[in-house]
Amino acid sequence: MYEFGFTRPTSVADAVAAMGEEDAQALGGGQTLIPTLKQRLAMPVTLVSLSGIAEMQGIQSGDGQLVIGGATRHADVAAGAGAYPALAALAGGIGDPAVRNRGTIGGSLANNDPAACYPAAALASGATIVTNLREIGADEYFQGMFTTALEDGEIITAVRFPLPEAANYQKFLQPASRFAMVGVFVAKFADGVRVAVTGASEEGVFRWGEAEAALSANFTADAISGLSVPADGMIGDIHGSKSYRAHLVGVMTKRAVEAAA
Ligand SMILES: Cc1cc2nc3c(=O)[nH]c(=O)nc-3n(C[C@H](O)[C@H](O)[C@H](O)COP(=O)(O)OP(=O)(O)OC[C@H]3O[C@@H](n4cnc5c(N)ncnc54)[C@H](O)[C@@H]3O)c2cc1C
Repeated sequence: MYEFGFTRPTSVADAVAAMGEEDAQALGGGQTLIPTLKQRLAMPVTLVSLSGIAEMQGIQSGDGQLVIGGATRHADVAAGAGAYPALAALAGGIGDPAVRNRGTIGGSLANNDPAACYPAAALASGATIVTNLREIGADEYFQGMFTTALEDGEIITAVRFPLPEAANYQKFLQPASRFAMVGVFVAKFADGVRVAVTGASEEGVFRWGEAEAALSANFTADAISGLSVPADGMIGDIHGSKSYRAHLVGVMTKRAVEAAA
């Protein structure tokens, strides 16, 4: 590790001011950032911890939506997002207890790891990412592996999830890391079904439009029996080939639909 400054503001306004300093970087739960610093892949001058900002903590529901503060830990979402059971279950399946007790929803969405779970939930739900500057729809927010619409210094203060009629997340996990080899989140709304896939594509999280159309017409696993995603563009690595991941997308989508229905 190298020497760096550390500040722990208690308001979003103070955090934004601290982020305005040269080479300052937000610190959520540190589950991704601290190992990155240890390897010196990032060397911010100052870490701005978001963990002391009360207005970025907690979960509220009402008016058909669930709003989660950007610094809310996975363990708190697992325990407190009862209004959206599929999301609570997803949070409870992230990593291990140590990761869930430190990692935050804002950190996960800002990082946008191609195998992370929250991006699938946010995209399938049509969530809104709320920052200190603006509100960003999930369809615009995710822009490829580790890439988002966030500008330098922009802080995710909350995430707003519309509550679906039915939803489920199925993760085929990589047993060592517990990240998704393929994860599929299916959400059924009055005006249609959204399907988002994580872990599979070289482009990061994506919507499977063909399955969405079929499931919007007929919300059963049979409706997508003849459908598949192309292996081209899928991730291929020591854990699974491109065609294996493409196959898993279909399998996990069917399981998610069966569980949701
Ligand atoms: C062993 C292990 C297993 C894991 N398994 C899973 C898994 O199964 N599924 C899964 O989804 N994830 C998994 N993770 C990742 C975990 O969910 C992390 O919590 C997450 O990637 C980063 O969140 P964090 O709060 O720790 O962010 P940090 O590590 O603190 O920060 C990550 C990045 O986000 C930025 N940032 C943090 N908070 C904000 C904010 N509010 N606004 C803007 N930028 C911000 C930071 O500047 C940094 O660039 C795993 C991690 C580990 C170590």
